[in-house]
Amino acid sequence: MSSSVALRLPSIDGLLRHPACAPLAERYGRDSLLTGLRQLLDELRPGVLSGQLAAVEIGAEVLAGRVGERLAQQQRSHVRRVFNLTGTVLHTNLGRALLPEEAIDAVQMAARYPLNLEFDLASGKRGDRDDLIEGLIRELTGAEAVTVVNNNAAAVLLTLNSLGARKEGIISRGELIEIGGAFRIPDIMARAGVRLHEVGTTNRTHARDYEAAISPRSGLIMRVHASNYCIEGFTARVPTAELAELAHRNGLPLLEDLGSGSLLDLTRWGLPAEPTVRQALLDGADIVTFSGDKLLGGPQAGLIVGRKELIAKIKKNPLKRALRVDKLTLAALEAVLGLYRDPDRLAERLPSLRLLTRPQADIFAQASRLQPALAEVLGSLWQVSAVEALGMIGSGSQPVARLPSAALCMRPQVSKRLRGRCLLNLEAALRALPIPVLGRIDDDALWLDLRQLDDEPAWLGQLPHLQVEP
Ligand SMILES: *Cc1c(COP(=O)(O)O)cnc(C)c1O
Repeated sequence: MSSSVALRLPSIDGLLRHPACAPLAERYGRDSLLTGLRQLLDELRPGVLSGQLAAVEIGAEVLAGRVGERLAQQQRSHVRRVFNLTGTVLHTNLGRALLPEEAIDAVQMAARYPLNLEFDLASGKRGDRDDLIEGLIRELTGAEAVTVVNNNAAAVLLTLNSLGARKEGIISRGELIEIGGAFRIPDIMARAGVRLHEVGTTNRTHARDYEAAISPRSGLIMRVHASNYCIEGFTARVPTAELAELAHRNGLPLLEDLGSGSLLDLTRWGLPAEPTVRQALLDGADIVTFSGDKLLGGPQAGLIVGRKELIAKIKKNPLKRALRVDKLTLAALEAVLGLYRDPDRLAERLPSLRLLTRPQADIFAQASRLQPALAEVLGSLWQVSAVEALGMIGSGSQPVARLPSAALCMRPQVSKRLRGRCLLNLEAALRALPIPVLGRIDDDALWLDLRQLDDEPAWLGQLPHLQVEP
């Protein structure tokens, strides 16, 4: 490298001593600053060497400024809060249920102090982490016994492996579902060591189909709640009570994967009916599995409830240790479940239920209130209106049900050819805000469904930062 060029770009030592860099060393540490400066100089050097960059213009102040921006960027957390205005309340990619204050307090306590995670305070002996919430879950579901794992996918895997390994699992072809990502019932069965024995057809499965499949190789009958799609028209499905009777007559357990499941009848809040865990058990399912962070409104977890001797078998499986929940989850789960003891106040206290039951008129009033501010920031290129919209529950609950909601709808006032690009630019600009705002593009417009906009001041406060490329 020619020495004249090296002379023109400031030296590392010189930069480190420069007053513009001192605050950066203070803030990010000398090592990070040094690494940042070295990287930046390495990047600039080829341009200076080839004469494309004028080194005289790249002084210490400029370099300090650029390194400062970069260090700030690097230090910013990758886990970031967003505004979920997509219209999907329990959005799997956006963290599903929001925890109530009671659960947040419990998580803080569990994070900060030692706790009786596996320690029985009464006897002073070693305990079992499931014991901390077993009583509550039994009370709320009527189950004999309970165990909790990392998520519902883990619950299904563990249950299948514990009760059906090396045997056949009988399941209707209408229930061989795939849930977002890589969770497919046939694959999970295979990984659990259960041989899939599918019966019936996609739209119709009868009791005689199950009956005909039963043999000495059978290990269990499985039923899966078809969460994210629905079959309509010429259909037939064996009611759980009848299927349970059939299973028991043949000495087999019936597993029911409810997916979301619900602890209470949601129709009492005007929401679509979702099967309850208690009913599935009353109907005779021996084991029921469901998620903690779907309709239940709690932390990510998989709950396995049902007959005592089967739960005991599941708990003895060495996989249980690999799939168990941590203390923060257990603390949050107990707090959330505690709220279910007072159903009358649940919709006020549980954020997911509060958001799901928010009246359309209330959301529409909010959209009307916010419309002028957004219209002003976007200018004449955009038509901004408060409109009625339809949202959904999400996480596979009630895929066809729609929640009457309201939205801010933004339509670019440009020729049809340019609309797509305009919408993508606006979408990107909203994502680039300090608290990214996520909406959805539909029908040549960008929609912000306000059902979940709780923190109006924070949302309004960042509007002036919105920079949309024309
Ligand atoms: C969502 C769902 C699962 C997976 O649950 P996670 O908690 O996401 O692991 C399994 N089965 C059904 C039927 C579901 O709806």
